[in-house]
Amino acid sequence: MTACISARELEEAGAVLAAESARFASFGWMRGTSGNLSMVLSRAPLRLAVTASGHDKGELTPRDVVLVDGQGAAVHGGRPSAEAELHARVAALTGAGAVVHVHTVASVAMGRREPGGIVFRDLEMLKGVGQPAHDVEVTLPVIANSQDMSELGDRLEAARNPGMPAVVVAGHGLYVWGADPRQARHHTEVVEWLLELELFRR
Ligand SMILES: [Zn+2]
Repeated sequence: MTACISARELEEAGAVLAAESARFASFGWMRGTSGNLSMVLSRAPLRLAVTASGHDKGELTPRDVVLVDGQGAAVHGGRPSAEAELHARVAALTGAGAVVHVHTVASVAMGRREPGGIVFRDLEMLKGVGQPAHDVEVTLPVIANSQDMSELGDRLEAARNPGMPAVVVAGHGLYVWGADPRQARHHTEVVEWLLELELFRR
């Protein structure tokens, strides 16, 4: 174990991430082992707990978690998802304490319809991402997918809207972040709600 993170700390983070994953899995947002969640355990050096790859996200235990560095490489534990690199990039870029990545139908469908970004306006629910409900247009960026995580990270960095803690990856899913796992969860639920509304509306 690294000098700064104890095995117990990692397992505690694993318990939090397992509970969050079970919640999202119950919504059908992490089907077929897809998606991954992370939380920041240290900033300098950057260390994140990330859900282990290949597991059913409705059945994670506190030990199904990997400690990764700022490049998403495993420091302790099993095999992290390749997407761990993007979690680390988001945490470094935005200062977020937790990152959620889910493969939702609404994010993929809306990313197809609006490849240049999805615009929301005049919705009370926008308050859930820190925006006023009225007289504001908020764009959720959409970026093209890539299997190269550093390329995907460059696209996310270039497209990011500081007023919207989320990005849609076209043909893939959604990345959402927050100060901690609880806020990241609330942001995810709000962004997904907005996407579902737009999907029904159009
Ligand atoms: Zn994914």
